[in-house]
Amino acid sequence: MIRIEPEAWAEMLAHATKTYPAECCGAMLGRRESGAKRITRARALENVFPGPRNTRYEVNPQELIETERLARRDGLDLIGIYHSHPDRDAYFSQEDLRNSCPWYSYVVLSIRAGQFDHAKSWLPDAEQTKAEPEELFYPAAAGVGRIGLVDFDVVDLTNLQRQVILGSSDAGRKKLDSAVETLREINPALRLDLFDTALSSENALEISKDI
Ligand SMILES: [Zn+2]
Repeated sequence: MIRIEPEAWAEMLAHATKTYPAECCGAMLGRRESGAKRITRARALENVFPGPRNTRYEVNPQELIETERLARRDGLDLIGIYHSHPDRDAYFSQEDLRNSCPWYSYVVLSIRAGQFDHAKSWLPDAEQTKAEPEELFYPAAAGVGRIGLVDFDVVDLTNLQRQVILGSSDAGRKKLDSAVETLREINPALRLDLFDTALSSENALEISKDI
């Protein structure tokens, strides 16, 4: 079982979407805790594959050694490698198998039209003949992946204390606008549905049916 913490996950998503339509690759650092792997940090690596990089990636071995060194310095282990599949599912390809090491977890992120779609983790065998799926937890699956915001109001300094996603610098702005900004910063993968209206008995059913 592998669990990716929000900060590392945000890093991986930002990297994968920024690199689209090319494949990205990076290292996942963390700790092994009673059978579970916990990823607390992600480190972007350069895709050094010499050909077209939209279906292939290659890690620079020097950079990987350097990453191992940095991980050890901070008391962490190099737990695995992540890479993206632009406009493809998060399967483990023959090519991925050929470049695999049996002691790493391989997290594949499917990015469709520049947006995160889903992710899977794989454990390849030592013979590089097959990879078993590994139970994977990442913030979008464990928590909220989609939020509907219904509001028509502007931010008012008098009721800020009960609205944690808004700050005092937001006074006078539309609540939806500043809330979206804050939520995007916390989780770039979040899907937000916005309803610039007041929730009422007339529109509640209509709004919640879409969320
Ligand atoms: Zn791949």
